[in-house]
Amino acid sequence: MNPPASNAHAERRGLCLVLSAAPGVGKTSVSRSILETEPELSLSISATTRQPRPGEVEGVHYYFHTPETFTAVAEAGGFIEHASFLGRHYGTPREPVERQLAAGRDVLFDIEWQGHRKLRAALPQDVVGIFLLPPSMAELERRLRNRAQDSDEEIARRVEAARDEIVHWNEFDHVLVNRDFDRTVAEVRAILHAARSHRTRQPRLPGFVAELLQR
Ligand code: 5GP
Repeated sequence: MNPPASNAHAERRGLCLVLSAAPGVGKTSVSRSILETEPELSLSISATTRQPRPGEVEGVHYYFHTPETFTAVAEAGGFIEHASFLGRHYGTPREPVERQLAAGRDVLFDIEWQGHRKLRAALPQDVVGIFLLPPSMAELERRLRNRAQDSDEEIARRVEAARDEIVHWNEFDHVLVNRDFDRTVAEVRAILHAARSHRTRQPRLPGFVAELLQR
């Protein structure tokens, strides 16, 4: 049954908001802040073969898989995208994303550039990509060290990985330099709100406008 015409403008299609950046740029903190104030947005929880960091919880931060389980899920088509980063596998479980989008809810992805590229190929109408840049490489390294959860060797690998990530900045719709946390959060929120009101995300709009214009 169609909803009453007066509700027509409220119906919309969910979107995929991708927040990508080199590790340490601050995308996890930005994601957390956006999620707190956006009830119609949920975080996509990825699967990974890397070891949990201190404090990371299964099913909250990641689903921690063995390489064998990860491969089995990937081969069964259970990931909407998956990629390798520093020798570990990361993948986005397909079912929750498809369910949320169909229900008109938005999904936030904290994934790297290959994941963004693959997600965009899988859902070309639905992806809004944001790339965060660090103010400088020195500041990025400082933030990685302050996190103090990784060894020196892992930090060095992550600084190198950051360079490989940053060269893909121009594949994204929006690029922000994360100089000021509150400002970055406000900009990400503005991008989300603008994307929601795009006419292609409101399938009932033509009917609503036709009714508005009825004499
Ligand atoms: P970390 O090990 O620091 O949690 O994540 C390493 C990188 O993997 C980050 O850039 C993060 O955004 C990315 N990542 C996390 N989950 C996924 C995923 O499901 N798919 C892809 N392609 N990248 C992911």
